[in-house]
Amino acid sequence: MTTPPPDADRLIRARATLGDFDLTVCTDGTFVLDGGAMFGVVPKTLWSQRVTPDSDNRVQLGLNSVVVRTGDQTIVIETGLGNKLTPKLAAIMQHQPRLLQSLAAANVDPASVNIVINSHLHWDHCSWNTTLHPDGSVTPTFPNARYFAHAGEVAHGRLQLERDRISYVAENYEPLIASGQMSLLTHESIALDPTIFSSPAGRIWVECFPGHTAQLMAIHIESRGQHACYISDLIPTAHHLDVTWAMGYDLDPLRVIAERKRFYARAIPENWLVLFTHDHHTPMARIALNDKGKPVVATLE
Ligand SMILES: [Zn+2]
Repeated sequence: MTTPPPDADRLIRARATLGDFDLTVCTDGTFVLDGGAMFGVVPKTLWSQRVTPDSDNRVQLGLNSVVVRTGDQTIVIETGLGNKLTPKLAAIMQHQPRLLQSLAAANVDPASVNIVINSHLHWDHCSWNTTLHPDGSVTPTFPNARYFAHAGEVAHGRLQLERDRISYVAENYEPLIASGQMSLLTHESIALDPTIFSSPAGRIWVECFPGHTAQLMAIHIESRGQHACYISDLIPTAHHLDVTWAMGYDLDPLRVIAERKRFYARAIPENWLVLFTHDHHTPMARIALNDKGKPVVATLE
């Protein structure tokens, strides 16, 4: 393994003020995935110049959740890899669940969270929606929150396809749907009104950017003319900014290229703060084009 940097254990990954809103990037720790799978068709000779793999060719990834404090509401975007992995899988993925400690470090009591938003329902994005207890029971981690996810993700998860069934764990969402605590969005409902939260201070809303999955949602956060966007697995890390550097996991890599272009067409000229779901070391950045016209990190927050 590469030597972890000195800040690897830091429980709060970043903070930013966005108009009247406060953003805190919390973490569910790190995990490892095969570097080739993370960079799709990009040759290792290229991606290994940006990320150093371990001796088994694995790269370390973060699990970033964003806490938005709007003044009177606390909103959590994404809930990490959770505590339901079998010991064997947790060892293979080198994951130690940290989100609850990270939220505590950010002074967030799970019972005080009003809204939880899942960009999609892969297990590395929604597993702390619920908590597995030693007796095998599963309860909502955020008992007083309204959860939001896309109905198309639930439908896809229920198919349990060979390609990606490992990522769709029913306990992460089915109990919340059954109890009525999770609201399911549709393409129609989003077209009608994408707003999850709004107040005089600002607005949080969702927009589909398909490619990684057919209904992956980005989460837009706006306050007083400032704009941040949690772009999730459309651009999982700051090392994936090139439009063709898609992941092997992406179900539709051609669509990823088109959607990244559509994203940059607004995010760069409007100077959005971009929040990366799996970048442990660059959880947020603004994007610019370099002299070759390629998107690069402009400024770190
Ligand atoms: Zn995913």
